[in-house]
Amino acid sequence: MNRTMTMLSAALIVSGIGGICPTVSARSSYDQKFADYPTYNGEDLELSIDSKGTHFRLWSPKAEEVVLCLYSTGLNGEPYESIPMTFHPENGTWTASVDRQLYGKFYTFKVKQDGKWLSETPGVWAKAVGANGKRAAIIDFAKTNPEGWDKDKGPQVDNFTDVIVYEMHHRDFSMSPTSGIANKGKFLALTEQGTTSPEGEKTGIDHLKELGVTHVHILPSYDYNSVDETNLQDNTYNWGYDPQNYNAPEGSYSTNPSDPSTRVKEMKEMVKALHDAGIGVIMDVVYNHTAENDGSNFELTTPGYYHRHWDDGRYSDASGCGNETASDLQQMRDYIINSVKYWAKEYHIDGFRFDLMAIHDTETMNQVAAELKKINPSIFVYGEGWTAGDSPLPADQRALKENVAKMTNIAVFSDDLRDAVKGHYSNAEDRGFATGKPGNEETVKIGIVAATAHPQVNYKKGNNSKFPYATSPEMIVNYVSCHDDLTLTDKLRKSMPDATDEERMAAAKLAQTIVFTSQGTPFMFAGEEIFRDKKGVHNSYKSPDSINAIDWSLKAANRDQMDYYKGLIALRKEHPAFRMTSAEQIAKHLVFDKIDSEKTPNLISYTLKDNANGDTWKDIKVIFNGSDESRTVKLPAGVWQTVAKDGKIDPQGGLGAMSGNVTIGPRSALILKR
Ligand code: CA
Repeated sequence: MNRTMTMLSAALIVSGIGGICPTVSARSSYDQKFADYPTYNGEDLELSIDSKGTHFRLWSPKAEEVVLCLYSTGLNGEPYESIPMTFHPENGTWTASVDRQLYGKFYTFKVKQDGKWLSETPGVWAKAVGANGKRAAIIDFAKTNPEGWDKDKGPQVDNFTDVIVYEMHHRDFSMSPTSGIANKGKFLALTEQGTTSPEGEKTGIDHLKELGVTHVHILPSYDYNSVDETNLQDNTYNWGYDPQNYNAPEGSYSTNPSDPSTRVKEMKEMVKALHDAGIGVIMDVVYNHTAENDGSNFELTTPGYYHRHWDDGRYSDASGCGNETASDLQQMRDYIINSVKYWAKEYHIDGFRFDLMAIHDTETMNQVAAELKKINPSIFVYGEGWTAGDSPLPADQRALKENVAKMTNIAVFSDDLRDAVKGHYSNAEDRGFATGKPGNEETVKIGIVAATAHPQVNYKKGNNSKFPYATSPEMIVNYVSCHDDLTLTDKLRKSMPDATDEERMAAAKLAQTIVFTSQGTPFMFAGEEIFRDKKGVHNSYKSPDSINAIDWSLKAANRDQMDYYKGLIALRKEHPAFRMTSAEQIAKHLVFDKIDSEKTPNLISYTLKDNANGDTWKDIKVIFNGSDESRTVKLPAGVWQTVAKDGKIDPQGGLGAMSGNVTIGPRSALILKR
């Protein structure tokens, strides 16, 4: 997400804009000229090193002059050499070579355009940088690989509905003294084994293994702008949605930001440790905007090209952060594709979460997924299928959630399920299905069937989307909370002000049971398994650690909550019925009980029948009661074994037998099997 939280509903944006032209001509008149720029897609962009020396190639078709500046240090001092570069009009690039391998040196480019020298820039392809990312660094990547890296591999994923995502920020996860972790707030935190809370509960990577998630989704870990890497003792916190160098890791997560190799090496060590634990690594990527408009590396390299504009030349701002990038222009499209390919190859990244994905066009996203699949078919790509403001890009070309069926191997977040279960994201007091507010039943059902067409779901009654926008459950990520907005705990505290935390924890269990039993891919926010909060702060993007860090003492205090999440995850992993792979399967094997929501609100009951998706259980009955009264449901004939009831769960179904009329307690889920 972005920093300003001005997200509009995707539906609003769809209805607000017209236009069907598939080329740049549909964009603003100001941007027309960029479509004619010659492009260059070679792997030697900006820096390459071979036995003959070090070679530089900057793409900047309209520059009048370009100078390469070589430095001995990553910060301060003058260049030890400045080299004028040579233009190649056929592809718009400028080149220079030095007949030595310049390992250990740094460089910048200086571009003159329209008679004006722009500020120095490390370019847009710096893969290693000095402190604060002002200069690109020349390092030997072969020397950054941890032992056994050539054999390192993330988990194999057969279907994306098998993935269970755990979204975390490096500092949230390890900064608290209760984490027992030595490398607090660093990539290396995830490499530490055997760490515990003061009460002796597992923390760090051991906690992830105990919980059972398949993938961690790390908040932005490329080099971002806001944290001063030369002054880490001040311990500044930021989510990192302010991209600076897209192809180098963030320095503040390394133990030494001034040594360009350290951040590369330590991030790889993190990936390796997670892979060794059987856990995949998904990176949050924010190609949709840059942190500094005119001062961004895009503008200092090739002015105007990489961002979109309105007719009058102003930056358009679909990100709500001051600008938006232009994925529909060839060089920018290739940039995004080559950048994720680079992370997948060099860092063995297993997935990408695209921030404000609808700022990008569907064609770019399709190419992203297709290219990544060639590298590793297990790579999972998903994103926010909305923008945070209007864009010159026509709505039918945007990678909106409503356009997800136009894309292949791309998933979108379901805000349908999210808001229907817990209440609206931007209205703290608003309640949802799991907290007793009637009228959300049909929208929850949309989430349960992963927004696919289902004979028993009436999309016209949906709160957000009004049609089955997904044609496969692999297109949907279900969740009730993420780093954005209130944590589930805080949302429940604000929307259930008179309740006890015990009652809220029951509601949290119900909410997550809906997520983890629904079709699609489940996604959770780190720490909610131990009922973490953020002291009621909804936009904590630069709040201190005292707000954002997870207090791991909560794990012992809320052990029951942790065990329930663990049980939910184990249940999902053991039972493919919850992980169907096609819309047809869901329509055939998932049958809702007929319940009149006017008369009996906040009650949903359905059966996963006939060994759905090859499940060993013939039938699974799932009943959700979000009201504050008990409800009774009549079971189909026969004896059923209880899997979950009244906030307890046993993935083996050992909680007793039931038949006939069964009672579901207030704010709870009942899961049965036979
Ligand atoms: Ca940085």
